[in-house]
Amino acid sequence: MDTDSFDINPLFARPCEATPVPRTKLAAEPMLPETAYQIVHDEAMLDGNARLNLATFVTTWMDDHANRLYAEAFDKNIIDKDEYPQTAAIETYCLRMLAELWHAPHPAQTLGCSTTGSSEACMLGGLALKRRWQEARKKKGTSIDKPNLVMSAAVQVCWEKFCNYFDVEPRYVPISAEHKVLDGHGLDDYIDENTIGVVAIMGVTYTGMYEPVAQIAAALDILQDRTGLDVPIHVDGASGAMVAPFLQPELAWDFRIERVQSINTSGHKYGLVYPGVGWVIWRTAAALPQSLVFDVSYLGGDMPTFALNFSRPGAPILLQYYNFLRFGKRGYKAIQTATAEVARYLARGIAAMEPFTLWNAAEDIPVFAWQLTTGADHLWTLYDLSDRLRMQGWQIPAYPLPTDLQDITVQRIVVRSGLSYDLADRLLDDIKKQVVWLSRNASAVEQPSTQRFHH
Ligand SMILES: *Cc1c(COP(=O)(O)O)cnc(C)c1O
Repeated sequence: MDTDSFDINPLFARPCEATPVPRTKLAAEPMLPETAYQIVHDEAMLDGNARLNLATFVTTWMDDHANRLYAEAFDKNIIDKDEYPQTAAIETYCLRMLAELWHAPHPAQTLGCSTTGSSEACMLGGLALKRRWQEARKKKGTSIDKPNLVMSAAVQVCWEKFCNYFDVEPRYVPISAEHKVLDGHGLDDYIDENTIGVVAIMGVTYTGMYEPVAQIAAALDILQDRTGLDVPIHVDGASGAMVAPFLQPELAWDFRIERVQSINTSGHKYGLVYPGVGWVIWRTAAALPQSLVFDVSYLGGDMPTFALNFSRPGAPILLQYYNFLRFGKRGYKAIQTATAEVARYLARGIAAMEPFTLWNAAEDIPVFAWQLTTGADHLWTLYDLSDRLRMQGWQIPAYPLPTDLQDITVQRIVVRSGLSYDLADRLLDDIKKQVVWLSRNASAVEQPSTQRFHH
């Protein structure tokens, strides 16, 4: 068929809509843009409804002005700082604002950068810790063969990646019923002269709980008095660093604690920007070894850069700045408060249901987890409930806790801005309905099959 005849065909009567689409090989011939659009659009339509995804921390809604800014900035490449000096300047404004928000002693003297998200930000934070440790050890003429990083067994996977990719031994401190998060208890057993740092998490991915950064720092102070080891802290504030300043302003977890050398956050989590933007800030220039910073001259100008990526969208940075201007501290506080209230409402609703016991109650970030009440004999699991809820469109994952609590299965809800009380009520109704269904049909639920998918 020649292309001239098929471009007047009605929608879905055109070649590729009315015939199979080549999927695994680049087709020999082009197709109409309308056809290609329709195919991609329709396939993407099969993705879930992002607003009902209570598994993710990442922003799924921004307002029309943000959408308009995004559309105006699709083409901006953040690395082209010479071409887009204003976007580069806006990146710096955002960094200054965050440094001030996180109580840097001298916000203008901090160093930092935007990233694609917290994963890249954590890699950079980890690399700075490693290089600092290496440089100090070299100066003393001691070995740099065996760096290790100490953190909770409940760290986000990006830290496991960091250790794997950059040859650092991960030292995981297990969690327990008494020590649900890394809290400084028993920390000494994991730290030695090869420890490049300790990661403290503000908003543990598994449960949403804060790790007590001040208490961890105090344990490290005592260790330093005893051994002379001065171990820095990196705070992984992927979600909490944009929650705590507004919901728990009295809580010292940030640069108010001297031992905290760097902090990261995901702008696209509670910074309320679409994916992907993250931030990392070092307390002082001294915390970021200059040997990690490259100067590139081939874009015009002389541009220092510390990043894993080179080219990357600039638009999310403009959106972050838009949010900072639009919301201010009071706006962020209002949004995070509303979100936290819905989370606690949901937590109370779930706690009131007989089969469930809360693991935590969304007291820190608007995230909480629950388990099946122990003692009672349940013929169904949280995996079954997760599957049933999925049929209603809700994504609410169930998973085992990390070492040493891997025998406990929890289910977790992440409340983001946009989950209203009304939707929360629909969700509680759906959970109740599915609990009734599972109780009635429990014998019909094939227990091993649910396990098969999750291990
Ligand atoms: C989400 C998360 C990350 C990874 O962040 P991305 O922005 O998704 O790369 C790292 N650490 C914690 C604690 C997280 O919650």
